[in-house]
Amino acid sequence: MRYEVRYCSHCATELQWLSQVEDSGDVTRLRCPVCGFTHWNNPTPVLAAIVEIDGKVLLARNAAWPETMFALITGFMEAGESPQQGVAREVKEETNLDVQSCTLVGAYEFLRMNQVIIAYHVQATGQVRLSPELLDYRMYDLDQLRCWPAGTGYALADWLRSRGHEPVFFTEEENAARRAGVVLKS
Ligand SMILES: [Zn+2]
Repeated sequence: MRYEVRYCSHCATELQWLSQVEDSGDVTRLRCPVCGFTHWNNPTPVLAAIVEIDGKVLLARNAAWPETMFALITGFMEAGESPQQGVAREVKEETNLDVQSCTLVGAYEFLRMNQVIIAYHVQATGQVRLSPELLDYRMYDLDQLRCWPAGTGYALADWLRSRGHEPVFFTEEENAARRAGVVLKS
């Protein structure tokens, strides 16, 4: 379910689309006509991990995804933690692995979900034990990895480049099949 912000979180008055002068000039946003609260609708930070164990990369499949779709470990950043702490927490919660090192790959847009993806490469150790949120995982050699045309896929591509591998993206047909859960015959 996608929730829609309708009421002031401070005084519970119904928000209205109101114009107000900001640094960039007049801007119309959802604002409270009573207390002046503005719903900024800033993007939410999401942490993503390219998890490397013994030279291989772990991609996992979310319980809500088709059988053909594997991707990075992701999760929302929480209040009171640094991005590095958050990524280590997510990797531990979702895979039971311990993060030994954590290096920033980059920040990527995910406009459709109003999120910004902060991607890290992590070196991890331990035994994989998936959380109920994840159904399956696969380990890939670097030259087996295929990238997908979305924020986390571009992060994977940038990281592969940094490791001397020219990234290979799924073709449009392959990506559509991957998202639809269709196994293509090669
Ligand atoms: Zn208000």
